[in-house]
Amino acid sequence: MNTEIKYLKWSVICFLLISCTESRKGIVSDLEEFKEAVANAQPGDEIIMANGIWENVELLFEGEGTNEKPIFLKAETPGKVIISGQSNLRIAGEYLDVSGLVFKNGFTPTSEVISFRKNKENLAYNSRIHNCVIDNFNNPERFDADFWVMIYGRNNRFDHNTLIGKRNQGVTMAVRLNAPENQENNHIIEYNYFGPRQILGSNGGETLRIGTSHFSRTYSNTLVRKNYFDRCNGEHEIISNKSCGNEFRDNVFFESQGTLTMRHGHHTLVENNYFLGNRKPNTGGIRIINEYQTVQKNYLYGLTGHRFRGALVIMNGVPNSPINRYNQVIDSKMNNNLVIDSDYIQLCAGSDEERSAIPIGSTFLNNAILGKDNLTPFTIYDDVSGIEFNGNLMNEEAELPFKDGFDKVEYQLTKNSNGLLQPNSDVLNIVGLSELRLPVTKEETGADFYPKNDIEIAFRTGKITKVEQGEGSLFLAIQNAEAGDVLMLEEGGTYLLRKYSYIKSQITIMTEGNAKATVLSEKSSFFRIENGGAIELENITIDGAESPDQPGNNVISTSKYAMNQNYKVFVKNCTIKDLVVNHSFDFLKTYKHTFAESVLFLNSDFTNISGSIISMTTETEDLGIYNVENIDMHKCSFSDVQGIVMDVYRGGTDESTFGPIINIVDSKFSNSGKGKRNRAKASLKFHGVQKLNVKGCIWEDTAPLKLYLTNGEPITNIEDCSFKNTGEIIANNEGYHTSNIIYQN
Ligand code: CA
Repeated sequence: MNTEIKYLKWSVICFLLISCTESRKGIVSDLEEFKEAVANAQPGDEIIMANGIWENVELLFEGEGTNEKPIFLKAETPGKVIISGQSNLRIAGEYLDVSGLVFKNGFTPTSEVISFRKNKENLAYNSRIHNCVIDNFNNPERFDADFWVMIYGRNNRFDHNTLIGKRNQGVTMAVRLNAPENQENNHIIEYNYFGPRQILGSNGGETLRIGTSHFSRTYSNTLVRKNYFDRCNGEHEIISNKSCGNEFRDNVFFESQGTLTMRHGHHTLVENNYFLGNRKPNTGGIRIINEYQTVQKNYLYGLTGHRFRGALVIMNGVPNSPINRYNQVIDSKMNNNLVIDSDYIQLCAGSDEERSAIPIGSTFLNNAILGKDNLTPFTIYDDVSGIEFNGNLMNEEAELPFKDGFDKVEYQLTKNSNGLLQPNSDVLNIVGLSELRLPVTKEETGADFYPKNDIEIAFRTGKITKVEQGEGSLFLAIQNAEAGDVLMLEEGGTYLLRKYSYIKSQITIMTEGNAKATVLSEKSSFFRIENGGAIELENITIDGAESPDQPGNNVISTSKYAMNQNYKVFVKNCTIKDLVVNHSFDFLKTYKHTFAESVLFLNSDFTNISGSIISMTTETEDLGIYNVENIDMHKCSFSDVQGIVMDVYRGGTDESTFGPIINIVDSKFSNSGKGKRNRAKASLKFHGVQKLNVKGCIWEDTAPLKLYLTNGEPITNIEDCSFKNTGEIIANNEGYHTSNIIYQN
């Protein structure tokens, strides 16, 4: 029998081969045919999904193949079978092999996109999913959690897949141990491309999790190797290891915010992984918690993360820790690692009243820590007598944490032929590393047919469109703009918006020349950022003179619905004035379950405004969710603002995130924050902000600055500021630093 018969309908093949034991190949073109083929599949059969868009399909691939003859589920052409809409895939049985599928333009109606089980009783074993893609297959509700890949059963392999752009809450990929059939599973996760994952602004943005705290003392024995983690920034755990006996070898972490965290479980091996932070913010390395962990021969370059996100972190535990807290570090090794140009090594991290169990029986040997950015990279939070230090190297300029166990070497780095910075061979020998090279390249990972394009489109990468002044012209231009476009307004022109302008992609609106164009609006909002949108205003005047006489207008608002794509607001060299037609006229109004990755105010003046300027306080349930990651304000002035200038709220005690991070420099606040509707009675108010830097600012006749310091160890610095007739800084505790502060009455 010719097994190469292709493109025959499955029903025809079944008819022809009803009693035949040869492997069969047949194409299926809809869900009914798919189900029939699956129901009849024998070992060695190939079920081929026809090219095209499969919309709203919940695929269940169930069968019993054999080691020699798996049952295959394939795309007619890899990459040409698009599964979209409300769709997912479950596999259950033995020796199943899935390849070539792409999930995009939709999301799963259940909690999982790809699941290695049919239900609790029917799991997948000895099965493989490879050369598949999940691309931005996200629930539009940001905090409606789901998982893209959930591995159950045993002896499964997930390899050469591409997972890009998870934007809603929920781990991208997880291994479950929630029944004996899932434990000691020997899964292999390799050669996958874990593409960019945006900052979630909450816990639940891990890229890979193995186990859960509840099953963390059981063995998973999962091997994670040769994967490429590219800007996986969801939260501070890129990988959350929560079970025993797992190995993480030969992976690359490229510019990813967060760390490989041994959150629970023991007997973990972390070896020969390359962390390339390239000095990007919040990039971290490896964090040890628990017993019998081995971290060795890893290469860590350009990592800037601090506290739990340092390059190398050993934590304190909780005595007799409950299963969901922190086990003491016992008999663990952090040896032979090469740390270059990275800022923080944290020992006994997290030491506090609860986390008082210091590491014991552990070693820190033959590591080289070379860097000039921070010459005191070690932070010792508690008693390190339970860690043996020997053979470690630091460069001459750096301060040794102790005399014993460390030697000084010259800071001498050269770029090797593989493009990696490395020290001289003496240092390499002591660390015990030979040739430095990436254990896997980006190109070697992921589905072979799928591009690894950047998902972020920056401002000003598109075309420039000149917009004539008048009524409606700017609205039309915004409606027709594409991502990255610049809308160039006439010098000194006047533009009236008579409808809401929906910002659906990255749009820049600016004036050509010196005299700013003026933009007015007859609607309650000038610009509304929709999901996927971002706005940059440069060199324009926003005037509230034509706005409707009603309370609660604003210049920029987010969507009123959840946005699963992070947005940006940039305001540069702008004048914002006379937002006073009625009360509570805000500049930036944000709604719940929206998240700004970056808000930048530069060189702009805000005068005569009845509402607030930046209010990002919609996540009030104290779940560790918040509205903005970075706010940067430089050289701005605010006068006669009746509401609050800036109000940022990040509640809860969760420690999984980095932000909010706020910088306010060389700015001036006068006669602001004093309106009777400003219940905060403050000009700036920060609750739970993780990093706050206020420098070179002046307050005059203005409501005070209020701080509510909570959650982790927030870093709060206020320097070179003067407060005239404003009152002193009001804070809930003393955990902030000030220098050169002048109060005048
Ligand atoms: Ca987490």
